[in-house]
Amino acid sequence: MKRRNLITILAVILALCGCGFAAEIRTWTSTDGKTIEARLIESSDNEVKIRRVSDGRQFSIPLTRLSEVDRRWVEALGDDSPSPAATSADLTELTQIPEDPDGTILLPLRVYLISDLELEQKGVKMSTWVTREDFVETVLPEINRIWKAARIEWALESIVIQPAAEVPDREAAIEYIQNAKRNAAGKSDPARMPKIHAFCDKANGHPVVNSLYFFPYLGQTSQGNAAMRGNFAVVGVWTDKPSRAVRPPQKSLLVEELPFKIGSIGRTCAHELGHNLGLGHPDSATQTQFGLLMGGKKSGYELTSEEIALARKTATDRATKILQWVESAGAD
Ligand SMILES: [Zn+2]
Repeated sequence: MKRRNLITILAVILALCGCGFAAEIRTWTSTDGKTIEARLIESSDNEVKIRRVSDGRQFSIPLTRLSEVDRRWVEALGDDSPSPAATSADLTELTQIPEDPDGTILLPLRVYLISDLELEQKGVKMSTWVTREDFVETVLPEINRIWKAARIEWALESIVIQPAAEVPDREAAIEYIQNAKRNAAGKSDPARMPKIHAFCDKANGHPVVNSLYFFPYLGQTSQGNAAMRGNFAVVGVWTDKPSRAVRPPQKSLLVEELPFKIGSIGRTCAHELGHNLGLGHPDSATQTQFGLLMGGKKSGYELTSEEIALARKTATDRATKILQWVESAGAD
């Protein structure tokens, strides 16, 4: 067969099965609670076009008919208009404590992309290159794939593109972070974190909603950092961990194909959210289960049953706290 014919046939096959646009399969929920497994084809200001997985049928659905979770996901894809912060009323739809003790706990998640900051290490200039689309279409589905084991789902609250805050002695702070090293025992330098938080303007972040701050680089072989049981975490989008800092930093993968080899931004986010939900690192000397999200020997994506129980308890507490905040200070 001539090469050109083969290419034409391939193009027709791709067009027919819609493989040209490899959007994630999502479960879409309407305002009246009906669900459909479908891929997004396109979205406009007032509707989405989706293709049902089961039979390939296309549907156009007005945004007003979509659940708050879906609407925020679609809105965050647009590049021209900022993804708006949720009102208190929206937050109650993004926060759910199931009646069934094994049901899905829904928690809102805000993302900050710290823009206009450049760090340099081994001649590589590093900025926050992850886009809103990267997060919405690739990273968030991976976070939710991993947390599904604990039946905890993260609903996008908003994506904020935020310039680095003004800090005293900006150049010295940049210099400090980009040169931060691990000590002989492998511990990262804690003194770099307040400087990173200052650039992120963490003090003005959301008081109760979990927030992920995407930052260019967190220092030698560090990929993320989170407050234990807190509501914020920082994730670096450049990494030199795979080479143990022998080679210059490289862009982290958004998502890594299974099995785990070097990790990805999606896994780091899921790991840091694990710390937010009260999970520590397993003790590699005594652990009996491997391939774990929280690290230890032979890292991976799994959660132990103890970790799932603890994370669900902390997630329920977080959801309660958010709903209380909505009722009191947050009412608008
Ligand atoms: Zn950790």
